[in-house]
Amino acid sequence: MKLLSSLTLDETRELMLSYGEKAFRAEQLYLAVRQGKEIEEISNVGAALKEKLVRDGYVATGMKIYKHFDSAIDGTVKFLFSLSDGDMIEGVLMRYKYGNTLCVSTQVGCRMNCAFCASGLNGLKRNLEAGEILGQVILANRFDGGDLKNRKITNVVLMGSGEPLDNYENVVRFLRLLNEEKGLNISYRNVSLSTCGLIDAFDRFMEEDIPVTMTFSLHASRDEVRSRIMPVNKKYGVDDVIGAAKRYFEKTKRRVVFEYSLIKGVNDAEEDAAILSEKLKGFPCIVNLIVLNYVKERGLSGTSRKDAYRFSALLSKGGVESTVRRTMGADIEGACGQLRAKYVQEK
Ligand code: SAH
Repeated sequence: MKLLSSLTLDETRELMLSYGEKAFRAEQLYLAVRQGKEIEEISNVGAALKEKLVRDGYVATGMKIYKHFDSAIDGTVKFLFSLSDGDMIEGVLMRYKYGNTLCVSTQVGCRMNCAFCASGLNGLKRNLEAGEILGQVILANRFDGGDLKNRKITNVVLMGSGEPLDNYENVVRFLRLLNEEKGLNISYRNVSLSTCGLIDAFDRFMEEDIPVTMTFSLHASRDEVRSRIMPVNKKYGVDDVIGAAKRYFEKTKRRVVFEYSLIKGVNDAEEDAAILSEKLKGFPCIVNLIVLNYVKERGLSGTSRKDAYRFSALLSKGGVESTVRRTMGADIEGACGQLRAKYVQEK
């Protein structure tokens, strides 16, 4: 299966020219794909061309919203998308005052196997193609009544299942597609890429000139603790991750975010806050404290909200800014770390 949604406007033009079509057809096709139409639904492109595309193995995104779950608490929507090969992935739409953010998956499963996260419970199944990552944005925008002129998705975070930098080529292509002016036209400033800290890939990413907001999943201030909960730390330690964040700031002047999920009795001691403050003070960053969301199979519990605020106050005393993130979509298992296409596994 070949995805039209993976092609840039220029590449769509080349494809149309190779089919002996006029160049303007390319734009019609490109826009229709981004409006969320499958090939058979596109009305302004002739039947012969559509047949040819189908015969050559093309689909638009090849995806469908298989199911959606609406939070009664805060309007968050969790999507279960079915892919052209039958695999399933999840995405989450969150409503904020400034607009809607879609949290997208970058892989089917994940191979990082963090001790608290549901995405890696069954390892990595496969990488998503660029057009499948974009497909989540396209379908969620259409679902919410948006089109290309009136976008209902204004922000995107790469914080669903998968490690973005472990699917490098597709993620970079996705970011460029998302940013194309005639397409979704979402500015890099409105995109956050979250990584567990694959530093070699990140250094390469710094050269791409894609100034998204970078979010580093730190979750500990000491290697001894981080290695226990994040296997990746054996290769790239706490100081490597902080060093990479500093290089990113130097280059882009964009403030970076560190994610820190508070796990009861694991990384929430006063000493952890003190060491973290020591390492981050004076660096323009923000620590996003998240009370760990409970994942049944993982058996770790979150710190109480009261202790999360205490941890935040300790960081503040140490000269480091932090926020305690509110949980969204708690009633639909749409919160951080809970995505895993549960529906499919339990069938
Ligand atoms: N692979 C990327 C994206 C992961 S999801 C990364 O590691 O950054 C986004 C965030 O949710 C990460 O910081 C991840 O560590 C965190 N997370 C995973 N499981 C969680 C859980 N059960 N509770 C709270 N946060 C969790």
